[in-house]
This record gives sequence, structure tokens and C-alpha cells, in this order.
Amino acid sequence: MSEKTNLLGLDAAALERFFAELGEKPFRARQVLRWIHRGGASSFAEMSDIAKSLRARLEETAVIEAPRVVSDTVAADATRKFLLDVGNANAIETVFIPEDDRGTLCISTQAGCGMECRFCSTGRQGFNRNLTTAEIIGQLWLAARALRGAVARLPRAGDAAGEPCEDRPVSNVVLMGMGEPLLNFDNVVPALRLMLDDNAYGLSRRRVTVSTSGIVPLIDRLRDECPVALAVSLHAPTDALRDRIMPINRKYPLAELLAACRRYLDRAPRDFITFEYVMLAGVNDGPGHADELVRLLADVPSKVNLIPFNPFPDSGFERSPREAIRVFSERLNAAGLVTTTRKTRGDDIDAACGQLAGRIKDRTRRVQRLTRMAT
Ligand code: SAH
Ligand code: SF4
Repeated sequence: MSEKTNLLGLDAAALERFFAELGEKPFRARQVLRWIHRGGASSFAEMSDIAKSLRARLEETAVIEAPRVVSDTVAADATRKFLLDVGNANAIETVFIPEDDRGTLCISTQAGCGMECRFCSTGRQGFNRNLTTAEIIGQLWLAARALRGAVARLPRAGDAAGEPCEDRPVSNVVLMGMGEPLLNFDNVVPALRLMLDDNAYGLSRRRVTVSTSGIVPLIDRLRDECPVALAVSLHAPTDALRDRIMPINRKYPLAELLAACRRYLDRAPRDFITFEYVMLAGVNDGPGHADELVRLLADVPSKVNLIPFNPFPDSGFERSPREAIRVFSERLNAAGLVTTTRKTRGDDIDAACGQLAGRIKDRTRRVQRLTRMAT
């Protein structure tokens, strides 16, 4: 029995190939793309401008399938978190953060993560597997469907009467959920292409951000194949400290990482790199660290985003006091580095990096351990 193709995971080029194999014209790909991603269609039956006979063939050979939603929780501040089942006891999470002028969706790219950053609960879980393109873009597809109607629809170029369309509460996407996006390059790039495609989500390159722990050769590859906004998880201003809290630094130390950032800027849709910096009390949050950071970033056009550490059990770290974060931020700003501090959102529903999915996975592992002991 041949497996049905999940059309959710095919970008425009792959969908054209799919229709070519069925002996159909390339414009079918565009039509179906619009139904699935702009219209949120989950069945072929609703694709009213496609001949019945073709719809019947699609039923036989293809599906439109996103991960199953395990829970959908809204925090007091309207942050909304989706927990999704991707099989084999793996859960991933997607978080929607509404703000006055934008709606940001934070999506995951791997189940777990193998980078072992010391301050990260996803890192603590270890790597389970890469998500497929369908599972990555499926998070945006699910969120767009769930949020439809929540925000007034903005008119878009190319809209025509009678075409499938949808409300667009998601204006920005950040690949800052679970996982290291660049280590799942081949599945992430088609998902990025769908985000950018006018027949799908039509987001501008500036509104799609890949966040990486700093895999140097893959930063170059992203620049060549699909440049979008780039955020780099820096978290320390020296190799000695970064080696300790982010093992990847031993492979790609700061000088190499910053050189890759400069190369990236040649093709980047924005003229700066965002550097994320998690504020860990007594570890990387002193005035001396701020001064070192200023020196380090002197010749890379940058914005710095300070992230108050989100604690999790047995992390061994504490969040920097509010005052320390303020002083650190002012020191950077005074030296000319544009610095913002990330608001902690969705605290009451554990919407911070990796928290809830981590708990589910841990429970599964415990069950597995107990089962092994018992047999
Ligand atoms: N793996 C990618 C993207 C996902 S992590 C990366 O590391 O960039 C998204 C951001 O959350 C990263 O900057 C990461 O360092 C940060 N982060 C991880 N654990 C955190 C925690 N416990 N508190 C605050 N930020 C955290
Ligand atoms: Fe992975 Fe990012 Fe967490 Fe590091 S911070 S372990 S790269 S998810």
C-alpha cells in the first residue's frame, strides 16, 4: 500500500511536481496552495473550483494533515499556547503572542533539542527528532485557523472576490520554540518558503525570524538559500563563559560566529542582527559583562534582546533581579547598542521555552523507566 502524500508539507515547487506526476497543470498547485494555507482547508471536498474528478483523485492519493492539538490554553495576558502531539509520546508547543501592533507566533522545529544549552529546559530533554515540514508549517496553519476571526482582516494585494481568504492575526513568525532550526535545515526551509509565499501566508522576510544557537556553516547556507531575519542566541560576551553555558561555542567560537553574522548581513532583509541574551543572576549579568558585550558587538550592526531567565526545576540558575537587568540594559543603550528587554508572557500557562512539553516528556520517560524496571 502506498502512503498518501501530506500536501500540507509541500511548498509551491514540490506541489507543482506532485501535480505534474498526476498529469495536471502547474496552476493546480497554486489553487490548492491557496485553499490549504490562505483558506485553511482541511479537505479536498471544500475546494469548489477544482473539478470533482480531480478532487476524487486527490482523496485517493493525498491528505492535509497537521499535528493533533492536545491542549489549547489562553493566559491572563491573552498569550495562547497550543500543545501538539507529534507521535511516539513527543509533544511540541506553539505560542501565539498578541500585541497592539502585531501578532507573533513562536513555532518549534524539533521535538527536543540536542544542543545542551545549560539554561534551557528543552535542551535538558535531549533530542528526539526533527519535525517534518508539515509539522512545522502545520503549527502556523493550525494557529491561523484557531485564531481566525479574532482580529479584523487586513485587506491584501491580490485578493479577489470569491477566492478563499482568511483573517490574518499572525503577522510575524519566530522560530524560537523547541529545537535548533538550522539543524533541521531541509525541513525548515520549505516551511519558510510557504510562510513567504503570496499564495500561502505572504509574510515579508523581515517578519519571519530564525533563531539559532550559532551553527556557523548553516548560517551561511540560510543566507544563500532563504535569507530571513536572523536572531542569534549569544548569552555570553566571552568564549570562556559561552563555552560553559552553550557547548556549541566550543565548535564555533565567538569570532567565527560574528564573522558569519557580518556575512549574513550582505543578504539579510534587515540591516541588523538580533542578539538574544538570557539574564542569569551572577553568571552573565554584571556591568563588566555589559562592557564586554559592547566591545564584542562593536563592528556588527546589532540589536540586543535581553531575556529574563525562565526558571525550571533543578536548572541551577536564577533570573537576574529586575534592577540588574535595568542597569545592564542602560549600559548597553548608553554605549549605542539598541537594547530591549523581553516581557515575560504567559507565565501562568508555562508558555516559556520548552516548559510544558518538557514536563510531558519527562513523565513519559519516567513511565518508560518504571516499565523497564518492572520487566
Ligand atoms: N534553538 C534556538 C531557538 C529556540 S530557543 C536558539 O537557541 O536560538 C529560543 C530562545 O529562548 C533562545 O534565545 C534561547 O536561548 C532562549 N531560552 C532557552 N531557555 C531559556 C530559559 N530558560 N529562559 C529564557 N530564555 C531561554
Ligand atoms: Fe536548543 Fe535553543 Fe534550547 Fe539551546 S537554547 S538547547 S539551541 S532550544
